[in-house]
Amino acid sequence: MSDCLFCKIIEGEIPSSKVYEDGDLYAFRDIEPQAPVHVLIVPKKHIASLDDCKPEDGALLGRIMAKVGEIAKIAGITNGYRLVSNCGEDGFQTVEHLHFHLLGGRPMTWPPG
Ligand code: AMP
Ligand code: ZN
Repeated sequence: MSDCLFCKIIEGEIPSSKVYEDGDLYAFRDIEPQAPVHVLIVPKKHIASLDDCKPEDGALLGRIMAKVGEIAKIAGITNGYRLVSNCGEDGFQTVEHLHFHLLGGRPMTWPPG
């Protein structure tokens, strides 16, 4: 989508700190990290949110989930992590292109705030 921030990052129109890329996804450092390691994992296909995922996106989502561990290692996470996808208003989603926050490098708290 032409007016989507993450589509522009994927296309290289907006600079980012790349961690990993393949045909399905682009992973880059969050500009406002909430943990020592904070990576955004973004499907290259523009899907607005988890709410907008269709059954035909299942294989893509599965391949992305199967890559998370490898991306965590590349990003330097060695002791576990949290994967979060904010959805909608109460989920506090601010960018309407599906993304997964990969957070690590410190103990996480539970429940989240
Ligand atoms: P969310 O609030 O769950 O939609 O997450 C959006 C995330 O995108 C936030 O954590 C922002 O810090 C991050 N973000 C916004 N703009 C950029 C950017 N240009 N480069 C990297 N991360 C960004
Ligand atoms: Zn997009």
